[in-house]
Amino acid sequence: MKIAIIGGGPSGIIAAIEIKKRNPYFEVIIFEQKDSLGKKIKASGNGRCNIGNLNYNFSVYKNEKIVENILHDYDQEEYLKSLGILTKTLYDDYLYPVSESANNVLLILMNKLEELGVQIKLNAKLIDYDTKNDTVNLFFSDGAIVVDRVIFATGGKSSPNLGSDGALFPIFEKHGYKIEHLNPGLTPIRVKENVKALFGQRLKALVSLEENEQIIHQEVGEVLFKKDGLSGIVIMNISSQIINKGCKNPKINTYLLNNEGSILSFDDFKIVALDNKNPLLTFVSESISNYVYELANIDKNKFLDEQDIKRLFSFLNPLSFHYLSAYDFDSSQVSLGGISFNNLDKDLSSKYENNVYFIGEVLDVDGPCGGYNLRWAIGSALYLSKNIK
Ligand SMILES: Cc1cc2nc3c(=O)[nH]c(=O)nc-3n(C[C@H](O)[C@H](O)[C@H](O)COP(=O)(O)OP(=O)(O)OC[C@H]3O[C@@H](n4cnc5c(N)ncnc54)[C@H](O)[C@@H]3O)c2cc1C
Repeated sequence: MKIAIIGGGPSGIIAAIEIKKRNPYFEVIIFEQKDSLGKKIKASGNGRCNIGNLNYNFSVYKNEKIVENILHDYDQEEYLKSLGILTKTLYDDYLYPVSESANNVLLILMNKLEELGVQIKLNAKLIDYDTKNDTVNLFFSDGAIVVDRVIFATGGKSSPNLGSDGALFPIFEKHGYKIEHLNPGLTPIRVKENVKALFGQRLKALVSLEENEQIIHQEVGEVLFKKDGLSGIVIMNISSQIINKGCKNPKINTYLLNNEGSILSFDDFKIVALDNKNPLLTFVSESISNYVYELANIDKNKFLDEQDIKRLFSFLNPLSFHYLSAYDFDSSQVSLGGISFNNLDKDLSSKYENNVYFIGEVLDVDGPCGGYNLRWAIGSALYLSKNIK
């Protein structure tokens, strides 16, 4: 049995390892268009590889029921340990390798591929394929081969410099697959306000995505200001929510919190404000303070009266931003959309073509920051490898 895995990202690598472990006599070949495997693994978690998450609430994923069905058996810590990747948790439930090195994770996986005898073809870009009764013909820029099974682990369109550029989606469409519309997910966002003066500032707050006075998503986190918008984990999560929830006119409100973690009240603020010429400096940086004074149209050199205090507070808490657009795929950590599950059977095989399978980000699944996307890539590969015959 000859199995081709197209794409040498985390899902392709894990599928190769697991299929070969279970079926040592299968010929397993990874075809990767780049000059090395696992470029996104190496870049993940800022080089530390946030490889999973111990929160088992699957509602964070798009297509949560299907994801739960596929991942519910995946014991991340045990499985990674079986590969020699010991893990630890940081920030409550984010899972990292104890080495905190994404490069080490990749090296461990590469050693496994070698030990098991998985073949690796680099600079091998698949451009098309067709299926016969029992075989699949694969066409590369420099030749063709025939295999018994093909697994597409080709990723989405995010960060094309790290590999997956989405070039195969039109080919999948030609083969009759429905592709859920692809959008950049987990990106910084541009806002309508002019925030240039806040460039480089940070603001820790309860960040709330709201539309028509309704809360769509809330999360405590740090907002980082860019020249034209906002970034930071919490904003990247919000960028995906805006698109996945189909928001038309979303607003991002940032609420300052008091020491107990509740939203800073006007009474809390007033106590400080009555005693201080510039009460904002108690809560935010000078640049943010200047920005709020300007929004409120109050001279920052003046002593505040009760009305000024009220007005200033109304602009500070919440500080509001109106969404303009998301950054594009170049700045995105995950693709929203992908191959629809309507095209697939439960074992992730194609409903239309014999011997064709899909795993990882190429499918219509995405999760927030925090290790959820690698968990899906690895877990879906593990699931398929148990079912493929
Ligand atoms: C900067 C960055 C940081 C991230 N950090 C984290 C993190 O810390 N934790 C987390 O959970 N997730 C993180 N992610 C997301 C995570 O890396 C991806 O969701 C995951 O890599 C998807 O795995 P995959 O194997 O499905 O696809 P990919 O990793 O995209 O791999 C697909 C592979 O297929 C190859 N390929 C595509 N088309 C072809 C073709 N036609 N022929 C041959 N080869 C092809 C590509 O070159 C690529 O190597 C991050 C993403 C980015 C961009």
